[in-house]
Amino acid sequence: MSKRIALVLCQTSDSDSQRIWTPPLTTPLLAEILQARGWIVSLFDSRLLINPNNTNEQNVSNLANAVLEALPDVVGFSFLSPNAQFSEQVAFAICNQNPKLPIIAGGAHCSSAPYLYTRPYNVIVRGEADDIIVEIADKLIKDGMPNRQLIIQSPVPNLQDSPIVVGANWFPYNDIYEGAEYRTGYVQLGRGCPFSCSFCNSSNGQRTRARPTEVILKEVELLKDKFGVKYIGFIDSIATSVPFFDTTFESISDIFAGNTISLNSTFVRFTELVAQVVADFNGDVTIWFGLETGSERIGRQELKGKWNKQATFKAINLCKKYGIKIGLNCIFGFADENDDDRRQTIELLRELQPDYPNPNILNPIPGTLIYNRYLQTGLLRDPLDLSIWDAKRIRETGEGPINDLDYQKVYDAYEEVENLKNN
Ligand code: SF4
Repeated sequence: MSKRIALVLCQTSDSDSQRIWTPPLTTPLLAEILQARGWIVSLFDSRLLINPNNTNEQNVSNLANAVLEALPDVVGFSFLSPNAQFSEQVAFAICNQNPKLPIIAGGAHCSSAPYLYTRPYNVIVRGEADDIIVEIADKLIKDGMPNRQLIIQSPVPNLQDSPIVVGANWFPYNDIYEGAEYRTGYVQLGRGCPFSCSFCNSSNGQRTRARPTEVILKEVELLKDKFGVKYIGFIDSIATSVPFFDTTFESISDIFAGNTISLNSTFVRFTELVAQVVADFNGDVTIWFGLETGSERIGRQELKGKWNKQATFKAINLCKKYGIKIGLNCIFGFADENDDDRRQTIELLRELQPDYPNPNILNPIPGTLIYNRYLQTGLLRDPLDLSIWDAKRIRETGEGPINDLDYQKVYDAYEEVENLKNN
């Protein structure tokens, strides 16, 4: 008997002009795992099916109809918090037309806030679904829909059986590179982050695990040779902490020489050996760090073990010594942030002189430590509004996601860092 599953990724478009710059890894990864176990998989991506000129109702209905036309036996949704409401609407539209069709949901939102905007799903998976998705889907086919919603905490996969995943190998991503001047690809070295930043809902407190080196190298080779990709972004939270980073990166360097790489690190895990290995790459490489703040008070409170000013200077000096380009992310808009905190962040950025200073404005994500703290103290403007307050929206409204915060000052600090980009 054939088993069909539709995997739906609900995500915000990369830009107005280009809905998707880079094929994702999330649903293609699950598709590889399911296909290897006999499932026929269809992928759907809201970014390719939504028309900005349509009403929300039309977009919901179009996406639901497209999924149903694939005649799936099971549907799986993956989404981040800003897309949770839209995903829920699409899932309800599917339920209304076919109430017997079981629906699974997973991804970052379900992991951190499984009770928010998740009513239509029969099974909710928290954590990484690699080792459990086939079992869940098979059981839904065999036993039918459960009579109540199940929330399942998945085991942490060791990733040793991680398949080769290249998003562009899958419809609807297989023609994204056609005619594209900039071809970018994602690769994941491993997973897990040992830190617990209060605003983050990815990998909190987990040990880092590596995917098999031969799988990673095959992905790099496919991206370069089959799809002509010239820029690879390693999507790991902290790529340089993944076991065997140095030897894996050396092998990647051999395959991908002459091209461009970006990866994430953290000051406290950045060593001279890592700097040497990265600097040996014969191409353009940028390392991104989460500086987040220059304020010791905010740093100790929100970054905990990641906050270390001495390590910050040491890592930046190593990058400069070895000629590695540096990207620094910072965040403004903590509820108790004052003028002095913002000034310290801007001054530190001026002193460190990164190649790419990148300001962000805090949007508390449901289920994170900071969201829960602000919720309990009544600081969230609307705890059920998960839409993104970006700089443009904040500038236009003078408001943001947190009550009683002077968003004009937050925006001014954001702009000041934006202007550092041009200096
Ligand atoms: S280091 Fe990065 S991935 Fe890890 S908890 Fe902090 S922000 Fe999240």
